[in-house]
Amino acid sequence: MTTSGEQATGESRPLGSYDVIVVGAGFAGATVARELAERGGKSVIVLEQRHHIGGNAYDRLDDAGVLIHQYGPHIFHTVDQRVFDYVSRFTTWNGYSHEVLADVYGTYLPVPFNKQSLRLAFGHERGAYLIAKLIERFGDEKKVPISELRKEADPDLVEIADYVWENVFLHYTTKQWGKSADEIDVSVTARVPVFVSEDCRYFTDPHQGLPTEGYTKIFERMLDHPLITVRTNVDARPLLDLSEPGVVRVDGKPYAGTVIYTGPLDELFGCRHGRLPYRSLDFVFETHDVDQFQPRGTINYTVSEDYTRITEFKHLTRQELPGKTTIVREYSRDYDPESGMDPYYPEVNAEVQAMHAAYVALTEQLPSFYPLGRLAEYRYYNMDATVAKALDLADALLEENK
Ligand code: FAD
Repeated sequence: MTTSGEQATGESRPLGSYDVIVVGAGFAGATVARELAERGGKSVIVLEQRHHIGGNAYDRLDDAGVLIHQYGPHIFHTVDQRVFDYVSRFTTWNGYSHEVLADVYGTYLPVPFNKQSLRLAFGHERGAYLIAKLIERFGDEKKVPISELRKEADPDLVEIADYVWENVFLHYTTKQWGKSADEIDVSVTARVPVFVSEDCRYFTDPHQGLPTEGYTKIFERMLDHPLITVRTNVDARPLLDLSEPGVVRVDGKPYAGTVIYTGPLDELFGCRHGRLPYRSLDFVFETHDVDQFQPRGTINYTVSEDYTRITEFKHLTRQELPGKTTIVREYSRDYDPESGMDPYYPEVNAEVQAMHAAYVALTEQLPSFYPLGRLAEYRYYNMDATVAKALDLADALLEENK
């Protein structure tokens, strides 16, 4: 179904002889590498420090033969037709629509909280009464942020907001971010919706699903081009000498080509302006000797347990494998680079944004050096947004070179 994702392709020649050096083989790096090779005719080397390509979207078969996502469950979804068409060059899709349930004291409620959740949480009769009130006030098939509901004069509508805040949002979010309720940014709360609908899909984007043969296969195909060389198990930092301001030295000489860097900028510059903070995750995988472990792809534990959620991969991948299934439990942690954790979610505030800007300013002094992707830009990007950014950068570079 999928291969190991390890790659050492292309000829062996000095790094400085390539037109483009791409650091990182995730969606950002792989997309820009493919575009510059295919449309620009550039020779590109991709350096990846892990033993595999694919970045955080990497998937592989585990010992039980279940296709798992090593760095947490990834569901592709987009409204961006260009991105969908682009990624679809390298895969077909399995048609999966993601559904999430919240475990609220043993009752499973669809998330986003919808008409079904209202009936399950409040009982059929009162649920129907509350649904009628929501429709009367906001209309059917509408997404109403709980911050809006809370402002209503009608105590029934406020009660819905309070229920969702307490049972679906508050404890889950405090676990996720390791913060107390009053430390949580109100702008995050404002976005939590009640969906006045029977639709139980987590994402309503017109394009969603998982790649039929897995994500790693996408990367193998993207990077399979005569002008692209891939080296895994290579940390790019010691190879890019940035000791002289405004110069990138490669193989001891100033490099005249283009560098596209998709790793963290603080680490590239020796954390001289400080370390950018992240939340990390521990993924605990378990294989069970059953066909199915839970009724939906993901169950969020919103009022109990110290893990945030459990995902069962076979729902997502639609893999047929009787008698075996693998799940992953996610535990949120503060990121500690010394203990081998991966940085996942940027903990953005004004102070760290300024720190990141100082690192970006350092890259701006370098000729043809472009930070790209979730780590280098220090932003949470979904896969589709990452591909869109990479396509935009490739367009701009190709335009410059005309
Ligand atoms: P990455 O995939 O992280 O790739 C960067 C690569 O650069 C890595 O492989 C890294 O090893 C390499 N690198 C870094 N530094 C160096 C160096 N010095 N030398 C060599 N290589 C280096 N998005 C969705 O659309 N749907 C989802 O369901 C979804 N689920 C997610 C779940 C979790 C738990 C997380 C954390 C993210 C999720 N995402 C999801 C977001 C998705 O993972 C990102 O959009 C995507 O990984 C971004 O691609 P990237 O290339 O920018 O970064």
